[in-house]
Amino acid sequence: MIVEPDETSAVEMKDHNFMETESNQSNEPEQLPAGETDGQKPAKKPRWTTITAVAAAAAVIIFAFIWEATSDSRRQQPPGRSGGFTDEPAIVSEIQDEINGLSWIHQDFLPVNEYSRPGTLLEDVKGIVIHYIGNPNTTALQNRNYFANLAVTKDRHASSNFIVCLDGGIVQCVPVDEIAYASNTRNADTLSIELCHPDETGMFTDETYSSAVILTAFLCDRYGLGADDIIRHYDVTEKLCPKYFVENEDAWLAFKTDVAMVIEHEAEQANQGDWWHRHFSG
Ligand SMILES: [Zn+2]
Repeated sequence: MIVEPDETSAVEMKDHNFMETESNQSNEPEQLPAGETDGQKPAKKPRWTTITAVAAAAAVIIFAFIWEATSDSRRQQPPGRSGGFTDEPAIVSEIQDEINGLSWIHQDFLPVNEYSRPGTLLEDVKGIVIHYIGNPNTTALQNRNYFANLAVTKDRHASSNFIVCLDGGIVQCVPVDEIAYASNTRNADTLSIELCHPDETGMFTDETYSSAVILTAFLCDRYGLGADDIIRHYDVTEKLCPKYFVENEDAWLAFKTDVAMVIEHEAEQANQGDWWHRHFSG
């Protein structure tokens, strides 16, 4: 598909390092009022300044702890919950709940809106549909923002559950419990993964490919799906998507084989979450 990302609305992924703030504050040496060093009665003004500074530092630390303790719930709160056009689905599946805790999937949910996130529950996941973004050299975040902006532009209906970036980063736009607008007649019973690509050939970077294999294998494993349940957008509508996997059948078969190998490997691991993390990080 042709996608025109809105670069101006790109949202920076902010990393709040509050632990740094905390250590800086707590390591500050306490300033003694000058009068105390020569036996004179300490002046009141410097003492109150010290008390005020300590109180302020304590407030910062307490705020940092509260912020850190509640960061998970804030991150998991979809933007649409407060201002969407429709009500947020009340159900959060175990799989979505697990994804909420995965460090290698960045969540940036679209606002609930009729053009890219209708908020309709998926009743069953019978397959994973692979797409290519169709707009060379754009990032996952740019395309995520394009999908989000459809709520305003109302240009068309389009979205995806996941987008894999040029650098292999994974952005989740729509919860796995909800349908996305990507795969036409299969929107209702599949999850969609859009892959970014550097040029018109539609060929993927090694990083995008690897992350796509890992993510697809993870979803197949959790939903009890096999390699035959992984399909291209082309297999639904005969659209040239994902272009490289349609024009290069061998590459597509290799992708499915790689996914199957990862699924098999994962099943042998005692600590699944740890394995996913190490595999993705490596
Ligand atoms: Zn597609």
